[in-house]
Amino acid sequence: MDETVPTLVTGQASTDAVMDQITNVYIWDMDETLILLKSLLDGSYAGSFDGLKDRDKSVDIGKRWENLILEVCDEHFFYEQIENYNQPFLNALSEYDDGKDLTAYDFEADCFSSPYDDVSKRKLAYRHRAIGEKYAKKLFDNNAHKLLEEAIGKSSATPTAYSSSINCIVTSGSLIPSLAKCLLYRLDDVVSSENVYSSWEVRKLQCFKWIKERFDGPNVRFCVIGDGPEECSAAQVMKWPFIKIEFRPDGPHRFPGLDMPTIQNYMDVIYESSGKDG
Ligand SMILES: [Mg+2]
Repeated sequence: MDETVPTLVTGQASTDAVMDQITNVYIWDMDETLILLKSLLDGSYAGSFDGLKDRDKSVDIGKRWENLILEVCDEHFFYEQIENYNQPFLNALSEYDDGKDLTAYDFEADCFSSPYDDVSKRKLAYRHRAIGEKYAKKLFDNNAHKLLEEAIGKSSATPTAYSSSINCIVTSGSLIPSLAKCLLYRLDDVVSSENVYSSWEVRKLQCFKWIKERFDGPNVRFCVIGDGPEECSAAQVMKWPFIKIEFRPDGPHRFPGLDMPTIQNYMDVIYESSGKDG
């Protein structure tokens, strides 16, 4: 990474700065990495604190989150209609979307059924577009959140002049509930809806390849952060740095302990050993 400070008064220097600008693409796992849910529900989170945390309360909190997620899915994201038609990302069917104005569109009356013909796929694409618009409008106004803000340079903790950043989520959960989780856990302003991927059917490696296709370039660096073996081995295949999240109190990386300098160190080790262009 070129750390020289260019002379900003000359046009040449600022052009060089743009040319040298590094884009960091952070690929986050969701469950038990950015948010706790399963480990609340099964008691493993509370259990790992050796009696210091109340297991029943954790299960209760988990159930309340679960109910809220389902409520958002059903009331705002057409989940009862589209539950069985999971797509790996929100724009997956955009080629079927003719761009029709959906302001007065009646989603209850369009007789949406199985999305195996083009007409049904278009109706599903409409729903996905409507979900993306609702997500962007924020239906609603944590430690992980602060780090994600830093990752995309919202916080002054990260120098932004010569780098820009993108957050993606790749989760093994299905897409629509994952988008609902992003809204409920207030991740929506640091992860845009089109950057959320569901690896449910396609596996994480495939999602990582799609992300590489979308964002790859000469100064682009990728980093995977997650708690599971699948994202670890997929990151190895891609030759990307992987940071393992561990919620147990003696784990090396857990929120709020993980910070941007640690993530940068991991990326520097991998990318500087393999050459600047990674
Ligand atoms: Mg996980």
